[in-house]
Amino acid sequence: MSKYIFVTGGVCSGLGKGVASASIGSLLENRGFNIRMIKIDPYINVDAGTMSPYQHGEVYVTEDGAETDLDLGNYSRFTSSPINRDNSITTGQVYQAVITKEREGRFLGRTVQVIPHITDEIKARIIRVGEQPGVDVTLVEVGGTVGDIESIPFLEAARQFIHDMGKENVLFVHLTLVPQVYWGEPKSKPTQHSVRELREIGIQPDLLLCRSSGMLDEDLRRKISLFTNVEKEAVISAYDVRTTIYDIPLSFVGQNVDAIIMKKLGLADKGPSRDGWKQVVEHFANAKRTARIAIVGKYTGLHDSYISIFESLFHGGIANRARVQLVKFESEDLEDGRDLASAFADCDGILVPGGFGLRGIEGMILAARYARENKVPYLGICLGMQIMVIEYSRSCLGLKDANSTEFEPEAKNPVVSLLEEQVDITAYGGTMRLGKGDTHLKAGSRIHAAYGAQVISERHRHRYEVSNQYRKGLEDAGLIVSGLTPDSTLVESIEWPDHPWGVGVQFHPEFKSKPLAPSPLFSHFITACLAAQEKTASLRA
Ligand code: GLN
Repeated sequence: MSKYIFVTGGVCSGLGKGVASASIGSLLENRGFNIRMIKIDPYINVDAGTMSPYQHGEVYVTEDGAETDLDLGNYSRFTSSPINRDNSITTGQVYQAVITKEREGRFLGRTVQVIPHITDEIKARIIRVGEQPGVDVTLVEVGGTVGDIESIPFLEAARQFIHDMGKENVLFVHLTLVPQVYWGEPKSKPTQHSVRELREIGIQPDLLLCRSSGMLDEDLRRKISLFTNVEKEAVISAYDVRTTIYDIPLSFVGQNVDAIIMKKLGLADKGPSRDGWKQVVEHFANAKRTARIAIVGKYTGLHDSYISIFESLFHGGIANRARVQLVKFESEDLEDGRDLASAFADCDGILVPGGFGLRGIEGMILAARYARENKVPYLGICLGMQIMVIEYSRSCLGLKDANSTEFEPEAKNPVVSLLEEQVDITAYGGTMRLGKGDTHLKAGSRIHAAYGAQVISERHRHRYEVSNQYRKGLEDAGLIVSGLTPDSTLVESIEWPDHPWGVGVQFHPEFKSKPLAPSPLFSHFITACLAAQEKTASLRA
């Protein structure tokens, strides 16, 4: 039977509960346990797919095509636990399921209520994951902040786990903030209040992760322990790490978080600990070179909008023993006739990420043209690949009005367009090409060299495709179509000819990259950027 750990958050949002939960997951895996991770999002959207990246950060896509919260990406980067549709639970899904059962008459005339019907549905969804074969621990992160109206049914379901499973099988971790007031003193009162709020709904936390700028001193831990009834050893400093978030698991191990959890849940060590994390962290401390990467996107104002891409770039850095510095450009800002040579002067490579809608498209096209003409390494992801196709058609095929029908429905030369089967779909939720799919790579291409394989599998999230009507023309004009779907009907990747490294992919390699297993595409992109940097340096010398 699985043990269950619930991670809740107090005081305010944005304290890094996802990374803290993922770190605990990695600690338990390092002790040999088979874990599962679940994220609960108390919003009414059925999934994150219909939400703007500005509202909620990136939409993370699973192998089986679920559009989920970005924290599932954190879980995937920190642990090897499988992440699928079942690992994401929202209020929308829970209510949809309960209302569907009600309409089918499955409640036999009873009044359908939050308790027990909604809470039962929540518990059933958690247990469905926990009961997968061989699972030792299921970690459930409850999104939102304790005290929010939306999370009450989830916290009530969590409380019932103690009743249903027995106290020895359920553990509560609460993440809070110990702010430093402006004269420098760290304050425990917000933590006391948020624990009191949890206790009012019947949950006594077993372990507190206190976000603070530095280590909490003994006196403060003693005081927090006294007021919250959490043992002093289990009052942990989740202090700000200096170099990388991948340092967090090590900072937790340093404070015995793994041992405390195992003791409280009665778990005996299952195997030798792996110390891969140490290598990752040492890398960040010791890397000598730095690759500067321009990100030309349309949601750059919020770091979380492109979090998997940024993390994958860091992973690519690890593979090259280099640091990666991000230089963010709002693509719209490049549309005012700015001198791109000076804008990109210090950048070793340009990445155009995925995105939706017209705003900023022309700026991305200018950036792609600059990269192609000036032989700057370029990685185009999803929209970033479609941009390459539009730019190439305009510049090299003479189709000045080439466009995607996403941006210009009546485009004269729709080089990127909807597939026949997508044309009549009017609903937005879950109707894109989603989840894993195979790509057959062309021998001798850059992408083939990167993956070192003929057939690869990556995840998708898009509606528009390179139009097959223009495929031959583009190839005749030199564009390399380096990847196709297994039936050869859809373009999956392209490359610029006579260019050091210009690759576009219709899929999203960023969703599978991990610090200990970087995406080959990102590693090779960074290699190309470092080579470009060396070349520029030797030309300047
Ligand atoms: N908007 C484009 C499409 O739907 C690209 C999507 C993306 O970049 N994820 O095809």
